[in-house]
Amino acid sequence: HPLPVRRALISVSDKTGLVPFARFLAERGVELLSTGGSARALMEAGLAVTEVADYTGSPEMLDGRVKTLHPRIHGGILGIRDNPDHQQAMEEHAIPPIDLVVVNLYPFEATVARGAGFDECVENIDIGGPSLIRGAAKNHAFVTVITDPEDYEPVMAAMRANDGATTPDLRRSLAAAAFARCGAYDGAISRWFQERIGEENPRHIVFAGRLRQSLRYGENPHQKAGFYAHGITRPGVANARQVQGKELSYNNINDTDAAFELVCEITEPAVAIIKHANPCGVARAGSIVDAYKAALACDPVSAFGGIVAVNRRLDRVSAEAITGIFTEVVIAPDADDDALAVFAAKKNLRLLLTGVTADPTTPELTVRSVAGGFLVQDRDAADLLAADLKVVTRRAPNEREMADLLFAFKVCKHVKSNAIVYVRDGATVGIGAGQMSRVDSARIASWKAEEAAAAAGQAVPATQGSVVASDAFFPFADGLLAAARAGATAVIQPGGSVRDDEVIRAADEAGLAMVFTGLRHFRH
Ligand code: 5GP
Repeated sequence: HPLPVRRALISVSDKTGLVPFARFLAERGVELLSTGGSARALMEAGLAVTEVADYTGSPEMLDGRVKTLHPRIHGGILGIRDNPDHQQAMEEHAIPPIDLVVVNLYPFEATVARGAGFDECVENIDIGGPSLIRGAAKNHAFVTVITDPEDYEPVMAAMRANDGATTPDLRRSLAAAAFARCGAYDGAISRWFQERIGEENPRHIVFAGRLRQSLRYGENPHQKAGFYAHGITRPGVANARQVQGKELSYNNINDTDAAFELVCEITEPAVAIIKHANPCGVARAGSIVDAYKAALACDPVSAFGGIVAVNRRLDRVSAEAITGIFTEVVIAPDADDDALAVFAAKKNLRLLLTGVTADPTTPELTVRSVAGGFLVQDRDAADLLAADLKVVTRRAPNEREMADLLFAFKVCKHVKSNAIVYVRDGATVGIGAGQMSRVDSARIASWKAEEAAAAAGQAVPATQGSVVASDAFFPFADGLLAAARAGATAVIQPGGSVRDDEVIRAADEAGLAMVFTGLRHFRH
């Protein structure tokens, strides 16, 4: 049966779109009840409003902590309209029904995001708002609940089409959204609280997000998918602005994340080219254009259709170099007008700007699903310094080798295990990723370097005179010897194998310099 909206309660922190919506209601004869700030905004727009304090006879108090927590409000929302006992109680206590609840919550997430202090964050935990929302959502059989300005339009459309009533389907869908909003809100509060008190393994944990983009499909076309942002303002793909190009796909987003996180590790101008979440070329140089050319040279075949991340503002020359081959996505902190003009000629290329780079040492929790649950861990935010390294061979790396070793190990952190990364002069020259055996990764990396050299018409592969990094210890000398045969002169690896002695001896015999990090960078 149709339920025309006769009385609405409006209490919103985000007043976007409020006035036109309230005017729409007023024009249809809906009585408006509202709290302090919202009521003021409506009155200023010339609308007739009853303040909740006047309606309940109970003033707003305790700095707004108590505004709407009153039986006349909650009874009006929760009463079951076709239940005679409820009807009688509502009449007895002079509780008119409230048919529409328009509430968006105190901006807790935004308060945390702008770095407010503990007390201010606590004060931004909304109490009455979630109660109103939950009550209205529970009683969705009769009550319409709006928790987001984006819902004004569909509600107006329904009321226009149904003589001032909403439909059961719409009310149910808004109720589902309302419970999700309360869940996300409480999730943000609990995560913030747990972090502030340093709780390591809380009994419950909530990961919540807001739909940023409905995706056409997931990893494969038969999988449904969506992209959610959880409101934490880490610069990266979830907070980037897409300047141009086709819609991002699920795989684009995953790869773009991998690409940007990698370049953010590097202080000098750097470029990473990513395919299937693994880098196929990474380099640092005096400029982005030089870094791009060096990164591309590592594996120009795989780079086709890749994702490019840079850690500096893009200019014309770098944009021209990047658009020289087919590229799916480019992500950068910024781009100047000349660069934008170059990209504009490639209509399909997706260009994302993040504003700034991310600090790789910022702590954050990461999550991955398993059947029936999920795994949570700290982001791998370890930052390795030269001083942390232990030289284990007779020969110590020289300065050039040392710089390349540190760079190679940083790249390793972003390559799926088993990861072997050859670097020469600030650029990867061979990457072996995702193999079940470390020696296979080492072989693949050097074989790819040989292929790249052959394709470029070079007599010797770029691994000659390179350094090599391994994300975890070499369990046997074989992987290390493969690297030596490929021409590596220095090695960086965590160490810690029961056969470390054997591996160190092999390194000494091959004339290699080797350092242990004591730090492992598995990535699966
Ligand atoms: P206004 O700007 O209208 O003064 O306040 C609107 C905000 O107050 C909304 O975000 C709403 O969720 C919140 N709110 C409504 N009732 C209560 C209450 O009883 N206690 C608290 N803490 N917040 C409330």
